[in-house]
Amino acid sequence: MIMGNFSDDIKFVSGVGDARAKLLEKEIGVRTVGDMLNHFPFRYVDRKRVYSIAEITDCGPAYVQIRARVTGVAYAGEGRKRRFMVFVQDSSGSAVLVWFRGIKWVEKRIEVGREYVVFGRPAFFRTELRMSHPELETVEQLLSRKEESGLQGIYPTTEKLSGAVGAKVMYRIICNAWALVKDQIVDLVPEAMRRQYGLMPLREAYYNIHFPQSSEALRQAQYRLKFDELLGLQLNIQARRTERMSKSDGFVFGWVGDIFTTFYKEKLPFELTGAQKRVLREIRRDTATGLQMNRLLQGDVGSGKTLVALMSMLLAVDNGFQACMMAPTELLARQHFATIARMVEGLDVRVAVLTGATRSRERREILEGIARGQIDLLIGTHSLIEDRVQFLNLGFVVIDEQHRFGVEQRSRLWTKNHRPPHVLVMTATPIPRTLAMTLYGDLDVSIIDELPPGRKPIKTVLYNDSARLRLFGFMKEQIARGRQVYVVYPLIKESETMDFKDLTDGYESISRDFPLPQYVTTICHGQMKPADKEESMRQFKEGLAHIMVATSVIEVGVDVPNATVMVIESAERFGLSQLHQLRGRVGRGGEQSYCILMSGYKLSRESRARLDAMCETNDGFRLAELDLKLRGSGDVNGTQQSGMAFDLKIANPTADVQILTLTREAAIGLLEADPDLSQPEHHGLAELRDRHTTREEIDFSRIS
Ligand code: ADP
Ligand code: MG
Repeated sequence: MIMGNFSDDIKFVSGVGDARAKLLEKEIGVRTVGDMLNHFPFRYVDRKRVYSIAEITDCGPAYVQIRARVTGVAYAGEGRKRRFMVFVQDSSGSAVLVWFRGIKWVEKRIEVGREYVVFGRPAFFRTELRMSHPELETVEQLLSRKEESGLQGIYPTTEKLSGAVGAKVMYRIICNAWALVKDQIVDLVPEAMRRQYGLMPLREAYYNIHFPQSSEALRQAQYRLKFDELLGLQLNIQARRTERMSKSDGFVFGWVGDIFTTFYKEKLPFELTGAQKRVLREIRRDTATGLQMNRLLQGDVGSGKTLVALMSMLLAVDNGFQACMMAPTELLARQHFATIARMVEGLDVRVAVLTGATRSRERREILEGIARGQIDLLIGTHSLIEDRVQFLNLGFVVIDEQHRFGVEQRSRLWTKNHRPPHVLVMTATPIPRTLAMTLYGDLDVSIIDELPPGRKPIKTVLYNDSARLRLFGFMKEQIARGRQVYVVYPLIKESETMDFKDLTDGYESISRDFPLPQYVTTICHGQMKPADKEESMRQFKEGLAHIMVATSVIEVGVDVPNATVMVIESAERFGLSQLHQLRGRVGRGGEQSYCILMSGYKLSRESRARLDAMCETNDGFRLAELDLKLRGSGDVNGTQQSGMAFDLKIANPTADVQILTLTREAAIGLLEADPDLSQPEHHGLAELRDRHTTREEIDFSRIS
């Protein structure tokens, strides 16, 4: 038997070869045998459990296995829409299996009248159970297969990869990779520490993560691998934090000048809330010290973060620096620009807006103005990070609603001056500090925990389809009073696999039930051209349209105080923080506002809990806490982690907050005793720490 190394090229593992190796690298970043072993299943299914068709509901597990006989086959659709359908039946009911790709291969293997074990993801189309691209085995094959625990890993894959490396091939490759390196696995965590935290040996953990011997062994394996990953991460973050605190290369904003003072005395249309004042003091203190500020500002929707950002930017201008503010969407950038330009009118501050839609002549002028220092405040979208945007002296950067920005994008702002500017990241989705550091690198946290006075709490109710007439009646009544209404859909078009309301259909039905001219409806969704979106927003903002039919593109920031009703269709489809963001689009003026959550009849326990929570509270912080709890127990496939400061393979900082906290304390303790981890027994830990530095040469301590 040949022994291999973790660093060996994956193409030499039997079952891989050149073509598959290329795909593995391109699609999931697996280049070596070690990468393959670190490609962990994101879920496991119990292959011993066979469901009867009738007992499957859309609230059940995400993957199921059934045993059913083929009663017939059919073809449907043309060209790229062509699909192959297989009708199956067990003693309890019937289902349809659908293939869109690899039809030739499947049709050869399907025998009408024969019984198969079918394994896949159930979905309901109307009331019919469907599975797309399930795995098939004959009953004989199933009986010949023997596994220890019946638990089978499902590996993350991509559309492209799954064509060439299906679930079975993937499993074989992992088996072969394991056999090559199983005796080379070195435990990086010192024995004493393993004992202290009750950690399974690393080799056993790798074995059980891929080939679980029992569900308990799997649990321990996951715990161990998550622990290592988060410990490495925390060692990394804490080491960098110590370094940042020991340096003093931040720009110094030494005084509060005329612009800030005049704004405060003459322009501010209202009294700052206590929380706003406190945060401004925190920012002033940071920026006066010579440390480089890296701060996360958390504040619920409507808590007045923009104003804090603006006043901080004015402070920068007072001290001879430029400032910029980056918003996640064109819509929001233009809205911020309009607000800010209005507020600083008459002050000696020059403001400009730059987005992807800025015309080339204007763009040239703005770029010149920025480079020469003739523009003090630049508001914009991603366009701000392009290389051709060269500031004369950028000192302060605001990033609004950060969750829409990737880390690489943010990091490029650093290169805009010879020293890194101060950074303020604003979010309406509160997260615990440890988690924030994992998501955004080393940073300090400020909180606005107070809403401006006089806001009326939004009333939230949960309706199902039978209340639609009542809903329409209510919308009409509000419009008759001069108010405006949002109706938000999870999908733009009808979907084959998901039974949710869609915008296209919804728009038709609203047009039918709300006749012109007393009801003007306008549309906004992500597939529209920016100019069309903006025009649609303008109509709504100016009150020319009464109903805005939209997708969640309007989730962040959009500000139309006269809108008082937010209807969210198929609300069970949205996450809690997204629902809260959407609700935040109303309740911005003096009028009583309403949020109406429309849902299907059948709700999973988790959806139910989310929607109930929305009805119970308007407090974003409480909702965020609950969200953590719900997600902690639920379905985690890693997708929501994109945009994080650090790549994590197995730990989910949201779900694994306890391990995160534990490893943070461990890291701080270790670094106090051995700051560079240079003691011999810490060499493995140093390796864990350095795993997180490989992603480009970005200095993550400087990204927030
Ligand atoms: P968010 O924190 O969601 O970004 P905004 O900054 O958009 O909130 O503020 C929401 C609204 O509250 C704006 O219309 C703003 O002018 C107003 N506002 C901000 N601060 C105060 C305050 N201290 N008193 C009264 N209204 C305020
Ligand atoms: Mg905002």
